[in-house]
Amino acid sequence: AINLLKSSLNAYKTKKKIAVMTSGGDSPGMNAAVRAVVRTGLHYGCDVYAVYEGYEGLLRGGDLLKKMSWEDVRGWLSEGGTLIGTARCMGFRQREGRKQAAGNLITEGIDALVVCGGDGSLTGADLFRSEWPSLVQELVKDGKFTAEQVAPYRNLTIVGLVGSIDNDMSGTDSTIGAYSALERICEMVDYIDATAKSHSRAFVVEVMGRHCGWLALMAGIATGADYIFIPERAVPHGKWQDELKEVCQRHRAKGRRNNTIIVAEGALDDQLNPVTANDVKDALIDLGLDTKVTILGHVQRGGTAVAHDRWLATLQGVDAVRAVLENTPDTPSPLIGILENKIIRMPLMESVALTKSVADAIESKDFDKAISLRDTEFIELYENFLSTTVKDDGSELLPENERLNVGIVHVGAPSAALNAATRSAALYCLSHGHKPYAIMNGFSGLIQTGKVKELSWLDVENWHNLGGSEIGTNRSVAAEDMGTIAYYFQKFKFDGLIILGGFEGFKSLKQLRDARVDHPIFNIPMTLIPATISNNVPGTEYSLGVDTCLNSLVNYTDDIKQSASATRKRVFVVEVQGGHSGYIASFTGLVTGAVSVYTPENKIDLESIKEDLSLLKENFRHDKGENRNGKILIRNEQASSVYSTQLIANIISEQSRGKFGVRTALPGHAQQGGVPSSKDRVVASRFAVKCMKFIENWNKNNQATAKDSDARVLRFKFNSQGEKVPTVEHEDDSAAVICVNGSHVSFKPIARLWEKETIVELRKGQEVHWKEFTKISDMLSGRLKLRAEV
Ligand code: ATP
Repeated sequence: AINLLKSSLNAYKTKKKIAVMTSGGDSPGMNAAVRAVVRTGLHYGCDVYAVYEGYEGLLRGGDLLKKMSWEDVRGWLSEGGTLIGTARCMGFRQREGRKQAAGNLITEGIDALVVCGGDGSLTGADLFRSEWPSLVQELVKDGKFTAEQVAPYRNLTIVGLVGSIDNDMSGTDSTIGAYSALERICEMVDYIDATAKSHSRAFVVEVMGRHCGWLALMAGIATGADYIFIPERAVPHGKWQDELKEVCQRHRAKGRRNNTIIVAEGALDDQLNPVTANDVKDALIDLGLDTKVTILGHVQRGGTAVAHDRWLATLQGVDAVRAVLENTPDTPSPLIGILENKIIRMPLMESVALTKSVADAIESKDFDKAISLRDTEFIELYENFLSTTVKDDGSELLPENERLNVGIVHVGAPSAALNAATRSAALYCLSHGHKPYAIMNGFSGLIQTGKVKELSWLDVENWHNLGGSEIGTNRSVAAEDMGTIAYYFQKFKFDGLIILGGFEGFKSLKQLRDARVDHPIFNIPMTLIPATISNNVPGTEYSLGVDTCLNSLVNYTDDIKQSASATRKRVFVVEVQGGHSGYIASFTGLVTGAVSVYTPENKIDLESIKEDLSLLKENFRHDKGENRNGKILIRNEQASSVYSTQLIANIISEQSRGKFGVRTALPGHAQQGGVPSSKDRVVASRFAVKCMKFIENWNKNNQATAKDSDARVLRFKFNSQGEKVPTVEHEDDSAAVICVNGSHVSFKPIARLWEKETIVELRKGQEVHWKEFTKISDMLSGRLKLRAEV
């Protein structure tokens, strides 16, 4: 093991001097990125510098280029803004300024720069790299350096990280800070909603986004807004007021007491006139609505980073250093991005150029091109928003013979966003002429009471931000009484089923699929949207509710860490849920900077506790009082049957010989509940509509049998052993789980998942897709360094 560690430390032969900086507007998560760059750089034996005050610091040099130590970034994960400062710097736009910056870097011997900022900052960085050789030559010519002195600095390595709340960079799904800003917006709009409903008011909320409507679009979906204005989809000049009024009036007529309109600050009409929050207000007042405007402003930038941004910034910071060490003078500067769940590298300048082309397309009034240049998720979500909200006027109704009855059921422990997903599925159904049916209180509710409720628009319209389950959930699985379930499926003539749940939901889907042989009524498309904080559904890396749970754990750990600042030298052993899956524990450990993480996959023994003690002692030895926060150990509830949370706390307390106090902390059911996070709400909506399309497509492609239960019987034949087998090719594909794997989202058949990817007795998948978290946690907590030194 030690050899393995040493080889990890020696993975890169080159030891560089790397500088990291934040530039442009600040965004939550920048500190996590700087922390990751500093510690990863040190881990690989590099010298790491922080450039204070953005490009201003590069120009001025001196104290603004600070060599960083491991301890310098302690506690940075939970700090908002950027602790190394940022600035807009006119000087760097001039060649003279960049020459000065090059001189400062050479003086310190720095030849690699990791820049975390928006497209402006990254453009500047790439220009700096392309000019570098000539700038160096000029510095020699000016007599500032000799040819020998500059010889080692022939090239400058640049790696970009996108720190921006606007999420405006092409080629990456999210930028560092975007989800934190979205979270803040949703929190504020939720507050506004309450007062709006009380007074039956309309509220127009302006959010940031000069050239990009991501925040406005996502906020529109997550807050159940009536209408949104985004720069990429300019509204018809002089006519947009009519559609806006029509939509708001229609929603009022359906029984809504309030209206929410989200306006991006860069919203335009098709003549490129700005559409301001006040313009929107005037239109609504014209309609007779009591209307108020709220401009959220800088509150969107503020506060600490949400779990997603801490994770993104940490993984990207680590990859940025690896990219520095792997880059050659011939490879273009990389930009670190993310697709779904996968950290990726892409050519920096291509992404920047693509981003700029969106603004150009808007300027030349080519709005179709502008929206087509956004990533597929953006386009998909924009269309979903229209489908579920604006086009509920009958324009999307399907022909009678394509209209379906769709059952929706919640199974297992509640997790956030069950209601948000149900809402989107129901709204999609209603605008397309399908009938959404809620199976009340899970499968056992159906078996015992037969209660199935046809959902109306008004039933679901405000479910976007409700935690828990409005239709009731139950742990019982479908197999409890398949005959009765089949009876009700027949009674309500279900053409499709959406299950929301965790492992019980997964199991139920398998049971329903297996029961098709005896109950042909189940021969309908059936999908599972994984929804569980344990994230233990086989085949996927993402479950609804996980993001909300992680946010609550991050806030909880920040709070208890801070509580220790009064007492100093305190250790908390935090017990988190997750069943036999260590995902939540590992993720929380990674984004809270835990000293240690105990999971079922990562066993506890005396050796590991001994190592924790050494690491804690090392941590406290460097704690000179300037960073008084407590230290965290995370233990999954099933990590060991012997080493309980209390026992670990007792052992560490005893062994610390009074040097530090140890406490246990149990967040308990707070992990399951609460208002769903903005990310969970958006993913819920996206997955729900995907499932509806899956159900529609399957029915369309099998139309001969879709509406006729007798025909479903005929889809089986008897084989030579006298067993009933399906006659339809790919029959199994029609009972599937919506899965995220790396950068892909797909429907995977339950039959194959159950057979090939499930450990039934442990109620989880075979693949531990979060293995990397543990490795990175160990690297950034200093555990790997400590082991190598032993
Ligand atoms: P945000 O998305 O928050 O606006 P940004 O990085 O795009 O972030 P800018 O103000 O455009 O913010 O750029 C930040 C700094 O980067 C500028 O003050 C300037 O120092 C430098 N910079 C921007 N564009 C260039 C450029 N074309 N050439 C050289 N330097 C540039």
